[in-house]
Parts: sequence; C-alpha cells; structure tokens
Amino acid sequence: MRYLVTGGAGYIGSHVVLALLDAGHEVVVIDNFITGHRDAIPKDVEQHDVDLLDYHATSNVLAKKRWDGVLHFAALSLVGESIEKPFHYLRNNYQASLNLIQLCSKYAVEKFVFSSTAALFGGPDRCEAISETASIQPASPYGESKYMVECILRWADKIYGLKSTCLRYFNAAGADPFNRAGEDHSPETHLIPLTIDAALGRRPPLQLFGLDYPTPDGTCIRDYVHVTDIAEAHIRALECLNEKSTAFNLGNGRGYSNLEVIQSVERVSGRRVPWEPAMRRLGDPAVLVADSSRIKRETGWSPRFDTLDKIVETAFAWRAKHPYGYDK
Ligand code: UDP
Repeated sequence: MRYLVTGGAGYIGSHVVLALLDAGHEVVVIDNFITGHRDAIPKDVEQHDVDLLDYHATSNVLAKKRWDGVLHFAALSLVGESIEKPFHYLRNNYQASLNLIQLCSKYAVEKFVFSSTAALFGGPDRCEAISETASIQPASPYGESKYMVECILRWADKIYGLKSTCLRYFNAAGADPFNRAGEDHSPETHLIPLTIDAALGRRPPLQLFGLDYPTPDGTCIRDYVHVTDIAEAHIRALECLNEKSTAFNLGNGRGYSNLEVIQSVERVSGRRVPWEPAMRRLGDPAVLVADSSRIKRETGWSPRFDTLDKIVETAFAWRAKHPYGYDK
C-alpha cells in the first residue's frame, strides 16, 4: 500500500513512518520541517518540504500519485503555547487540516487516520477512565483545534465518503525500541524527557508542577502510552477502516503520578533525579487516564509496552545515545 504521512518528521509521525515501512508499505512524507527533524526519517523515504497551509503545493503532492491512505500528524501541539497564541494554533491546525481534507476528498483518498488528542476532553475534575462517550470540552485552543478537525472529517465522510479514524492519544512517550527514532522537542516541555535529562545532569533540577492535587501522592496522574504502540494502533486502524468512520481513545489504561515517573527514571537509569516543588501549571487536569477498551475490541490492538518502566527504558536508551537530540 502507498501512504502519505503529514508531519512524518515529528515525534509520533516518524515512529509511524517506521512502522509502515516495517510492515512493507510505501511511504511519502510531507513536512514543513519547522518542528520536525530531517534525521528522523529514513534517507530513502520520499520527502516534500511543504506547509499544508499552502493549498497549491499540497495539491501538487496529492495529485502526483494514487494514495491508499493519508495519515495526518502535522500540527502544533503545546497546550500552553496555544493559550498564548490561539489564532496561530487554529490557523496551523485547523486551516491546514481543512486544506488537506478538502484535497483528500478531491482526489478520492479512501482512508484517513487523524492524530487527535485526549486534550479534547479537557475537564479538570475527571477521575474515572475516559471513554469515547465522555463529553468533549476542550480546555485550550490546541484541544479545540483538534476537535474542529474531527468535525471536518465527519462532514468529509457524510458528503464525500472519506472514511476516517481519529486516534485520541493520551501521553505519548518512549522511543523506537531499535533506537532509530526518539523524542526531541525544542523547547522540551514533557515530563519523561525532562526527568531523564535531570537524571543525566543535563538540565537543572526538574520543576515538579504541583504537589497539592487530589491524588494519592498529590501529583498529577497521566496515562503514558508508548509511541511504538501508538504506531501499531495506526496500522490496525488502517486495516480495520472500511465501512465506518470512528474515533478511538488510546492509552495504556493505567495512570502513573509524576512522582512515580521520577521513581521509574531513577530505577531505569540507576541515578537520582534532582527535583524541586513548583507552582501548578495552568490548565493541568489532576488525572487523565484512557479507557481504551473500544480500540482493543474493534481492532485487536493492545499495548506491548504496558508498564511505565518499559516505556522509560526505551526513552532513556535513545536520550543516552542522542544527548543533544537530532540534527546536533
Ligand atoms: N510536569 C512537571 N514538570 C515539567 C513538565 C511536566 O511537573 O517540567 C508535569 C505536568 O504538570 C503534568 C505531567 O508532568 O502533570 C505531564 O506533563 P506533560 O507536559 O509531559 O504532558 P501533558 O499531560 O501536559 O500532555
């Protein structure tokens, strides 16, 4: 099969490119390379340096070949930044996706898999595992922009028959188990890479945002799902996407507190993690845990990296081998 991957140079996109290649598919990448890394994509993969906001340039790529499916990752993805720059986020995530989906409808692409997010659910006081039927209440322009794309997809199916699966990731983490790709954001804001860097003495002590949450140890609880398991979910989604568009929540279904993340990094690295208490970060819900039973039931997906230590081991291996990330 031939698949077009937007944002294939980004963290999750690059791991999905590897999974598609491993499964024997042909892959073409579109990326504007603003936050993505050229080194994250194998050299022999066809790449187009194109911004999806450029309708004509995107159209030229779509028109070149027949596509068995499009997987759409290209997006800005920082909740805090989206509150500072709402229109920038809505333009980049919504307008760019509108261009892409319009072109997929025009060129009769049959299958579309969209990189959505648990940020759709917002809701700071939720404690139970979140299923697909939970109410959608984005708490940021980032979450809203992803929800708006899900809405475009609903209409693209109703009117043009474009079948789509939206995968709403919880906390993506870890790195390719063969060390071919990993997590490298600039600036890095995510807990696991920051904790690993603190353990390796490459950053000042970790700032732990909030110790007074209504959780057993007072720190936030998140559901970490390995990026290779996320990639596998995309393959399953493509295989199972036939008659009906759908959305799946995607997580391990078990939450770990921020202090448990620190303990896991200490176990895996054999080093102490220096950290200090800090103020709560704006917009952080106390608990975010996925109910992933629907994707398991409907596609047979299940996570291979089912404990935090297994996830952290791969993240640590990549970080240790790439102290300054890609490109440096
Ligand atoms: N966090 C923290 N210090 C940091 C970065 C993150 O305490 O330097 C906390 C953050 O407040 C949240 C958890 O780690 O409770 C996970 O945050 P991350 O940004 O990794 O993912 P998010 O859940 O926001 O998508």
